[in-house]
Amino acid sequence: MDDNKVRVLIVGAGLGGLVLAILLEKAGIPYLVFERAIKVRPLGSAMFVNCNILPFFEQLGIYDDVRALAKQVKYTQVLNHNMEAIGGIDASETEERSGYPSLIVQRPELYDLLLKMVPKDKVHMNHRVLSIKQDESIVKIRFSDNSEAQGDVLVGADGVYSAVRQSLFRQLQLKGELPKSDQQDLTYSHICLVGTTLPADPARYPMVLEDDCKHTILMGDKAPYSLWCFTIPGNRICWNLTIQLKKELSKNDDAFRNSEWGPEATESMCNEVKDFKSPYGGTLGDLIDITPKDLISKVMLEDKLFQTWTSGRVVLMGDACHKMLLSGGQGAINAMQDAIVLSNNLNELRGNKLDEISAALKHYQQSRYRHAEFNVNASKQLGKALMGQTMMEEFFRRLTLNYIPKFLVRKMLDRSGAYRPQSTILPSISERGIVKVLPQAVPLRHGATSSSSKCKDVDGRMA
Ligand SMILES: Cc1cc2nc3c(=O)[nH]c(=O)nc-3n(C[C@H](O)[C@H](O)[C@H](O)COP(=O)(O)OP(=O)(O)OC[C@H]3O[C@@H](n4cnc5c(N)ncnc54)[C@H](O)[C@@H]3O)c2cc1C
Repeated sequence: MDDNKVRVLIVGAGLGGLVLAILLEKAGIPYLVFERAIKVRPLGSAMFVNCNILPFFEQLGIYDDVRALAKQVKYTQVLNHNMEAIGGIDASETEERSGYPSLIVQRPELYDLLLKMVPKDKVHMNHRVLSIKQDESIVKIRFSDNSEAQGDVLVGADGVYSAVRQSLFRQLQLKGELPKSDQQDLTYSHICLVGTTLPADPARYPMVLEDDCKHTILMGDKAPYSLWCFTIPGNRICWNLTIQLKKELSKNDDAFRNSEWGPEATESMCNEVKDFKSPYGGTLGDLIDITPKDLISKVMLEDKLFQTWTSGRVVLMGDACHKMLLSGGQGAINAMQDAIVLSNNLNELRGNKLDEISAALKHYQQSRYRHAEFNVNASKQLGKALMGQTMMEEFFRRLTLNYIPKFLVRKMLDRSGAYRPQSTILPSISERGIVKVLPQAVPLRHGATSSSSKCKDVDGRMA
């Protein structure tokens, strides 16, 4: 290990924090991970992964393992409340064009696969960070038991209500350095109930025997809901029920404080929605009946892109700086892409000079911001088409699913599949498919103290 490398503190052992830890481990960069939970329970039962992240899994040597945990999605069918098809998304050409299939992977199993790649003594569970402090020479975090840790760089990978972000933003606001939009609360306009069944009876659910994932979405009628179902390996079914609220809420609203969260709230929501129709026939209650209680979660779906990702020695990644709706299936992919680009830049650093560290962290934000912004916006648009319940959204849905010419759909899929950041710490892998892949972002070289606007972004344009 090079003694001159920066010492990194990572807060949060979600998918983003874990991938960063794996890469720092490979690079021989000293790091520690602090996670508030005793055991991380990945939310969102199934996860979409595609050419935006599979090349990196190939670099890591886990591509075949991930495929074994997944089913391929070639078509998404959308039904109305009478179970009539109102359109669909055809992804059957994706593998040929992008070189990689679009997969629905079992999320807890993917998490365990990644967790195994980080030495146990580097991950400190049951450590809740409350606040941060930094100066010219060091950054410190304080935990809920009043203990502290210190390093050269602090990474907030602690999710949508990031304690690192809140502590950093308080300090920036006091100095008058926090942009207005970063001062506003996160809002959410959907709540969601997700679960994964035990192996389902093929006589009742024959689709579980199909090799490909049967991805079907049912739009509710009287209640403003959409119910997404996926089949995953092991004859199991993942389901996501999304309910659209009449108005946007934030955690500071009375309506939020009066609503319930946690296991009892999950159970009472299950009771309220059990008669909703399921796209696989029968009701959602039939699926809930074969889903273990601890595999059901009630979550809210926030959506926000923060402008400030870094200041001094502190940097944010994943949901902590860009929270997107689940409709695009891109939140975790973007958290992992952050980890790749951030670790590429950390790997160039030597010593503990604040100006070099700060420039490298800014360079990471410049390299990633526009891609995260694209996905926050794309997820919002897809959310309108696949979850929205207003008349305008219904109109937009029919338009999107039926009247966009095939060449345009192909163009949109090609565009979003062109971004595939690779780790410079691992041997690179050659490009697959016929889609033109964007050039790799170059990390800020060692000794540079300015990540100025002259820095080139991944697609060669000026950032
Ligand atoms: C229902 C659902 C379905 C989804 N489906 C997909 C999908 O198909 N594809 C996709 O790409 N994305 C999907 N997402 C989004 C994805 O889950 C997130 O974007 C992703 O998990 C973000 O990763 P992260 O590491 O940034 O944060 P998180 O996964 O939220 O991890 C943050 C970690 O930090 C810990 N932490 C929080 N505060 C502290 C603290 N103060 N001190 C210490 N530790 C702390 C938390 O316990 C947690 O373990 C879905 C999300 C939901 C809710």
